[in-house]
Amino acid sequence: MNKVRTRYAPSPTGFMHVGNLRTAIFEYLVAKHNNGEFILRIEDTDQTRKVEGAVDFIYNTLKLCNINIDEGPNNKGKYGPYIQSERLPIYKEYAEKLVQMGKAYYCFCTEERLEELRKEAEKNKVAFMYDGHCKNLSKDEIEEKIKNGEKYVIRQKMPKEGISVYNDLVYGEIKVENKLLEDQILLKSDGYPTYNFANVIDDHLMGITHVIRGNEYIMATPKYNLLYEAFGWEKPTYIHVSMVLGEDGQKLSKRNGDASFMDLYNEGYLPEAIVNYLVMLGWSPETNDEIFSMDELIKIFDPSRISKSPSVFDIKKLNWVNAHYIKKLDIESLLNITVPHLKEAYDLSDKTEEWIKKLVSIYQDHISYGKEIVEVTDLFFKEKIELNDECKEFMSAEGTNNTLKVFEKEIENIKEWTVENINDAIMLTKEKASVKGKMLYMPIRIKTTGQMHGPELPDTIFLLGKELVLNRLK
Ligand code: GLU
Repeated sequence: MNKVRTRYAPSPTGFMHVGNLRTAIFEYLVAKHNNGEFILRIEDTDQTRKVEGAVDFIYNTLKLCNINIDEGPNNKGKYGPYIQSERLPIYKEYAEKLVQMGKAYYCFCTEERLEELRKEAEKNKVAFMYDGHCKNLSKDEIEEKIKNGEKYVIRQKMPKEGISVYNDLVYGEIKVENKLLEDQILLKSDGYPTYNFANVIDDHLMGITHVIRGNEYIMATPKYNLLYEAFGWEKPTYIHVSMVLGEDGQKLSKRNGDASFMDLYNEGYLPEAIVNYLVMLGWSPETNDEIFSMDELIKIFDPSRISKSPSVFDIKKLNWVNAHYIKKLDIESLLNITVPHLKEAYDLSDKTEEWIKKLVSIYQDHISYGKEIVEVTDLFFKEKIELNDECKEFMSAEGTNNTLKVFEKEIENIKEWTVENINDAIMLTKEKASVKGKMLYMPIRIKTTGQMHGPELPDTIFLLGKELVLNRLK
């Protein structure tokens, strides 16, 4: 058996939405599950979409996600270059070979002629398909045109009869009638290959055994298979994966403002959690477990369990997974994902490091992502708090005023402001006001924090400080 080799082949647009990242993770898992290699290939044949620095961006993202690249533009490897724009002579060589074999042909059709054809097709309400006009040019005609400096592309010559069939690991048998396959362009007049050509040449030359990609390529794959057959090459295993949709049911995109990996990362989502969540999006293990480390995923990943139906990116589920990971963070990592957001939102100049650390740590079990620290802690950064209706209703219960009066006295009596002393003050209130449980804690919590739930009350009161607590009690 050949060594398993998979590739992630992004276009360098400087943006990686979570659907693309999920593909990369799937490719990585298939490779590593089989002790194989994972390759990064940059597909920059559409030079208009290229963004400066995009390759570094992809490297950073994969590194953060703990996806290790075995071969790629910045790694060693014997199948390079790994950037398509640096491989133009290779594509030309193979395109010419196809022409010689009679599986491709030069096409000199002008943009105007093609435009006419497109209009015609539109008028007749049929899908546009190149009509094969240049398929049967003689050798002399071709030479003449080239001599005259006419621009040409190289097109694949499709069979006009029969059916192409292949097996996709997720979707099963895929059949397409050959007459529906267009004589697609392989090499453009500027010498750049199309994706349709480059992906085949590169996947073969780079020894790729498993191709995992979005299912928008599922119906074009028979064309790629014809190229493999023309060259007599072994075809890879195809694993097409469904789309990840936004909550609105639309395809994820930058334009729709959908979350990219970096957006999530910058909001304090943890890469391990994002990876964990994305793998479970459209793939399921044999058990009901939902939390997996990368190593565990490598062990159990089976691509035949990838689902055919589109998955919807569900931020609530991601929050749930992320909260799970946040609970396990050490304090340093927790500070890293929260403090920058606190600093941006609030003036921390009069707060000690100790105070900030304690604030963040008492909220560790209460936040789903780093930036959420801002909203849950706003009660520490304002004088006045507003009570919602539920709080107001609770406060109207009998005895709450008395409890608060007693508590206020106890707080005033505290000499040294410590969590223990605050706890004692609550205990004394319990005794002196003869209240317990909810009737003890709730009025104090509501009056001092404006909320009915939160971290341990003595910790919270400690961080609020004596002055602010007394102000709110008064
Ligand atoms: N560059 C292609 C894309 O970003 C890759 C498709 C593939 O993996 O073959 O859609």
